[in-house]
Amino acid sequence: MFDTIISGGEIIDGTGAPSFVADVGIAGDRITALGDLTSATAINRIDASGLTVTPGFIDIHTHSDFTLLADGRADSQLCQGVTTEVIGQCGFSCAPLGRQAGGSQLFGYVDVGIPINWRSFGEYLEQLERARPAVNVAAFVGHGAIHSAIKENDSSPSTANEIDAMVRLAEEAFDEGAWGFSTGLEYWPGIAAPLEEIAALTTVTAKRNGLYSTHVRNRDVYYDLGFSEAIATARHTNAKLQISHIQPKFGAPAMAMQHTLEMLYRAGREGVDVAFDIIPHDWNHTSMVSVLPMWAREGGTTKTLERLKDPALRKRMKENPRPMWRLVTVGRWNDIVLLHSVANVDLIGMNFSDIAQLRGVDPFDAVLDLLTEEGEALPQMMWTSHSFNDNDICMCMREAKCMVMSDTLALSQRGPLKGLIGSLSGYGWTARLLGHYARERGIISLTEAVNRITVRPAERLGLVDRGRLRAGAFADVTVFNPKLVHDESTVLAPLSSPKGFIHVMVNGCFAVRDGVRNDVQSGHVLRH
Ligand SMILES: [Zn+2]
Repeated sequence: MFDTIISGGEIIDGTGAPSFVADVGIAGDRITALGDLTSATAINRIDASGLTVTPGFIDIHTHSDFTLLADGRADSQLCQGVTTEVIGQCGFSCAPLGRQAGGSQLFGYVDVGIPINWRSFGEYLEQLERARPAVNVAAFVGHGAIHSAIKENDSSPSTANEIDAMVRLAEEAFDEGAWGFSTGLEYWPGIAAPLEEIAALTTVTAKRNGLYSTHVRNRDVYYDLGFSEAIATARHTNAKLQISHIQPKFGAPAMAMQHTLEMLYRAGREGVDVAFDIIPHDWNHTSMVSVLPMWAREGGTTKTLERLKDPALRKRMKENPRPMWRLVTVGRWNDIVLLHSVANVDLIGMNFSDIAQLRGVDPFDAVLDLLTEEGEALPQMMWTSHSFNDNDICMCMREAKCMVMSDTLALSQRGPLKGLIGSLSGYGWTARLLGHYARERGIISLTEAVNRITVRPAERLGLVDRGRLRAGAFADVTVFNPKLVHDESTVLAPLSSPKGFIHVMVNGCFAVRDGVRNDVQSGHVLRH
């Protein structure tokens, strides 16, 4: 007797093997049989003929650390078949926190009355558990959090004693369940951290058999410096390396993607354990405040806002030689679009050429004005740009070591996060992979596409009993229509849910059934 039988679907088990037709039997939170279950009995029998049945998708790179605390429903991910998220990426994690830390320093923070009363990584995971996330969550500890917990807002170079204290915090995070360690070397404070600090922390990661994921220092004109720093760190410290969102950005030479892959495979032949992931989208996104030079951001949001009001300092801000995006440097403002703001909701979806024209100011001044108007919500302000080259994405996607991920926030439009936008991938990244890249363009096959968001990330992380559809595994299952699956989100409608997803099960419970989101939150906080 099964709780549920999903019968007659085309099974893609996640390994990359050819699909086959079979029934999936589920009892409790596990898949207990896979085969012909015609004569078996079940409380629920679901006809999946004509549909594709896969393991629940694993998103190996998200920034849902705070949003899942604020609202565990994760509708945006469940509506596209994601059942496990890996948070704590690009150096950002919600823990550990220093004594004086507040919410506004947390990535994706929205003031919805959540008390910031945890300090250690373990306390944060317990708080996350109380929020009952609807997806499973595996958390990394971020360099930015560790560094800031020790240094607060002090921007002087870390001393040996301070690095020792950071190492102890990393060890504690691994003791308490971290799956890996991440850096964001293009962001504060990663941008200022010496090699020795990063190496000390990746050494801990290697000893604890964690994964080291890195948002490298540069992915445009100095892309080769960015990637070789990551390789050198992994080689020197024996850490397992995951290059995050590997695609080069606007401004990189045309051969950058090919060259990068050659560098990584060469390092692989020399014994460096390296893999990578990509966002299946040619639009990039980041926090808008990253356009400012580091000196303008020292001391936190209040100080930044004061400086934004000083005409002489504004002039210096506009001369920032590294405004994160080369599109800014060369003034391609029509390729940069406002994605999230609370002070200027009416401008969302407009590009900065048009915003500047509307306001009768220079585009960079429009950027600084909007940042000023955002006030204390400044760190959450997002913009998006046409920064990635689609050929690079296709080239990468075909590679054996490539995983696909969202780089976004788990959201729900039904609760306190209503209206929040994470990125253009937020509501449709898996649909874009399966529909746009696999079915419509044939860049990779459907079985390969599923493999890149199931078995590959599971094996890379060392997740046990998830990622592969087989008897004995946890019942994380996604059922979709392979002919209809389609990303509906656009710059003007980034919150549109994708088409084609029928059922999504997390630990044996239907989070989505017959295309409708149930009020079920059955995810687990996974500990390494
Ligand atoms: Zn990143």
